[in-house]
Amino acid sequence: MFKASFITLFPEAFPGPLGVSILERARREGIWDLETVDLRPFGIGRHLNVDATPAGGGAGMVLRPDVAAAAIDSLPRDGRPLIYMSPRGVPFNQALAREYAAAPGLILFCGRFEGLDERVIEGRNMIEVSMGDFVLAGGEVAAMAMTEAVVRLLPGVAGNEDSLNEESFETGLLEHPQYTLPREWEGRGTPDVLLSGDHKRIAEWRLNSAKALTKQRRPDLYAAYSETHDIQAPETGDEHY
Ligand code: SAH
Repeated sequence: MFKASFITLFPEAFPGPLGVSILERARREGIWDLETVDLRPFGIGRHLNVDATPAGGGAGMVLRPDVAAAAIDSLPRDGRPLIYMSPRGVPFNQALAREYAAAPGLILFCGRFEGLDERVIEGRNMIEVSMGDFVLAGGEVAAMAMTEAVVRLLPGVAGNEDSLNEESFETGLLEHPQYTLPREWEGRGTPDVLLSGDHKRIAEWRLNSAKALTKQRRPDLYAAYSETHDIQAPETGDEHY
């Protein structure tokens, strides 16, 4: 069973969105489980202090390394990566999600305030992972987003495993546009090819649309894709963007 342990000052934030839909069903089926470890009881003194002012001065508070380490050391590692959610970390992406889905689970430390004392990051070999180039108020939402991306890749969680392989980023491209019923909505139709029943043409249209969309919106991804694929200029589908 894949085990996600969240070290947090706000255990009441969990399971939150991790407790609905396919992740909740998978948890009931025993594919994965989660626990929270409240950082507060590891605090120091009568007031169970978990933070202190930054050495060198400046704004805000910093989480103490002794408190963080006591919480971390209370957990069995069991070969699980120890992650510190941090805007300075390696950017999270689908490849990392795949890598972590092959692990026995995750230990996720959710920061607060100005973050965590550097010495515990080093001393416990924490892997810093970022959800993007923006600053959240705490690591809880970041840890939940990361866990959701990982757990939905575990065998038996997503209803249709094929759909996982065709999604954005799995192919190196953003996903093609999707259409469903009704066939016409507010004067907008559905591309004829999608109604043709011709699976080869549909696959071509989807690939060309995905290429055109990626080229326009994410030139960085498109450049990486071009290096590993024999690129033909997108012929159809690009008129939508
Ligand atoms: N002073 C820090 C930001 C602290 S934000 C800095 O400038 O780097 C407080 C906590 O929120 C962090 O410790 C981290 O756990 C979490 N957090 C904020 N933004 C994040 C992001 N983009 N990705 C992952 N975690 C983030």
